[in-house]
Amino acid sequence: MIAIDHRLAQQRTIVTALPGPRSTALADRRKGAVAAGVGSSVPVYAADADGGVIVDVDGNSLIDLGSGIAVTSVGASHPAVAAAVAEQAARFTHTCFMVTPYEGYVQVAEELNALTPGDHEKRTVLFNSGAEAVENAIKVARLATGRTAVVAFDHAYHGRTNLTMALTAKSMPYKTNFGPFAPEIYRMPTSYPYRDEAGLTGAQAAQRAIARIEAQLGAASVAALIIEPIQGEGGFIVPAPGFLPALAQWARSNGIVFIADEVQTGFARTGAWFACEHEGVVPDIITMAKGIAGGMPLAAITGRAELLDAVHPGGLGGTYGGNPVACAAALATLSVMRELDLPARARAIESAVVPRLRALADEVGVIGDVRGRGGMLAIEIVRPGSAEPDPVLTKAVAAQALAAGVVLLTCGTNGNVIRLLPPLVIGADLLADGIDVLADALRRLTEAD
Ligand code: PMP
Repeated sequence: MIAIDHRLAQQRTIVTALPGPRSTALADRRKGAVAAGVGSSVPVYAADADGGVIVDVDGNSLIDLGSGIAVTSVGASHPAVAAAVAEQAARFTHTCFMVTPYEGYVQVAEELNALTPGDHEKRTVLFNSGAEAVENAIKVARLATGRTAVVAFDHAYHGRTNLTMALTAKSMPYKTNFGPFAPEIYRMPTSYPYRDEAGLTGAQAAQRAIARIEAQLGAASVAALIIEPIQGEGGFIVPAPGFLPALAQWARSNGIVFIADEVQTGFARTGAWFACEHEGVVPDIITMAKGIAGGMPLAAITGRAELLDAVHPGGLGGTYGGNPVACAAALATLSVMRELDLPARARAIESAVVPRLRALADEVGVIGDVRGRGGMLAIEIVRPGSAEPDPVLTKAVAAQALAAGVVLLTCGTNGNVIRLLPPLVIGADLLADGIDVLADALRRLTEAD
């Protein structure tokens, strides 16, 4: 594996209480300026970040186990990405691809057409955010099929815009009092091995959903089925083997567009370029964002040429979609990902961390499930001797980890999942230190019970 030189020392160093005085002052200032509805899971303000560390405004160096929600897989300031951004910004920051197009957009589209699963003819459109990509995937599917119904799944997260709120499963905080929601969205049961009845196979879980779709909607009314190959915000739920292929197969034979939402799972995160590949699933349309551009806002949909090209000229776009600086960042990010073989690094993270999480599960008795793939790993926190979610303990673990200098994110429909999403360039020692902190936090909090 290629050794990586980092600009910032890759170590955890705590020099103040967390949050420190400067972060606290910024938090106070923010109250008078930023709307209260925007949350921050970690009350520490960033000043610098590189590789696996975030240095805050008080000079604390924190271990980053969140990557800004699965974005900074190559680190938050990779020199190749920073140089590409500076170089492009010095030439032009914007012309609008819908007005005066430029090569970077075309090149990103070519790269995504080649990189995404399947060797069929593909087309790509670029956007700014994951939610926007999802919205557009649904627009394309509806237009191309002439149908309106869209199937989403329990525990799904697809964004916060009106259509994507409707697709998202969890009410608080994403949907509560933000309705009315977009119509023609239907929710079906997913495959959740830890909580499904024992022994339910992926094929059976798929059949459970398919039977409901056929009974409640009729396959012929369904434009698209959208699913995250590993559900992210919903709890890092890895479906039972066979679930995704069975759904994709059924969608294909019924003229339904199978959309894989790989906004969180894409770009090496799970140990493959895309999570669909673990089961040989070839989506009709794939939505991407997050890891694609090393932190610059960029999103994409890539899909079968006949679907994407069905849309009339001018039907897709947006002022900033495929911004030239973001495209330059994406091209640099993709080449760094290849050079460092980030899928292999993600697999190495899984090999290093999963045995430790399993040992911890045996030790503390509140970890109901250890799951995930590559650099997308999670533990589900439950009350001892049961499967009852324990969101209070989960929050306490994240808070205690932060106090010790580790940025740790939670997720899950019940708020009881600790998720690990380190930058894929994180060093082995730093990662091990981060897991030590997580283990200590869990030990201490469960001993105190
Ligand atoms: N889909 C998935 C699977 C996601 O994880 C997210 C973001 N967490 C989104 C869509 C929405 O992306 P964005 O926040 O960029 O709109």
